[in-house]
Amino acid sequence: MPIKTARERLIFALDVASVGEAVHLASLLKDDVGGFKIGLELFVACGPAVVEAVRKQAPRALIFLDMKFHDIPATVQGAMESAASLGVDFVTVHCEGGALLKAVVEGAGGRVKVLGVTALTSMSEADFEEAGIDPAYSKAEALVLHRARVARLAGCAGVVCSGLEAGAVKDEFGAGFLVVTPGVRSADDAADDQKRVVTPAEAMRNGADYIVVGRPIRKAPDPKSAAKRICAEIEQGMRERR
Ligand code: C5P
Repeated sequence: MPIKTARERLIFALDVASVGEAVHLASLLKDDVGGFKIGLELFVACGPAVVEAVRKQAPRALIFLDMKFHDIPATVQGAMESAASLGVDFVTVHCEGGALLKAVVEGAGGRVKVLGVTALTSMSEADFEEAGIDPAYSKAEALVLHRARVARLAGCAGVVCSGLEAGAVKDEFGAGFLVVTPGVRSADDAADDQKRVVTPAEAMRNGADYIVVGRPIRKAPDPKSAAKRICAEIEQGMRERR
């Protein structure tokens, strides 16, 4: 289904550690965001039951299970089969080679969209060398594009990358290949541990389909108005889209 509104483009990261907190935030924000991201912190603490609990609170919201799978093909395929049975919309896998990505796509069996995580937005280019990344990919854009090519070939529906690389990914792969962008901060927000950061409007101008925002909403004195302010910035960026 095509995305229509600014709200539908905003995915809130439920980075909390209990079903109670997740349900509280889902019920508070269900009319202000388009989806909820369940990541490692919440899933490890609460297990698959939290998916159902969030869905019950916000039946129309998209559910993004951010598992960031990274293991041998047989293991990730099995894990993905289990994740797909939860009826979520997106699941993530690290872009660490075609065999791993293909196994995850196979495990998804067309039931859920697989997104390849290209390079964490908490990593700066200075961190790439320490992580053992080939100097040919010392620029974030080169690394993201390389990993996006592998993800695309393996059958992923799209990638997760920073808004700084979103435009290059859209230029190469076209509108149909999804770009989901975390590391989003409005002008006055703290960057926290994020390094490759853009504003909501910049992410949209550069072609991102969805942005993922956690702390700037969760830690705001009024999370609902923070989400509304971000939606206004999304709208502005959409108007200015190249
Ligand atoms: O609080 P903040 O807005 O920084 O949260 C961003 C969320 O996006 C976190 O849940 C984090 O796990 C996730 N993420 C990320 N960078 C990626 C992929 C996912 O920050 N490349």
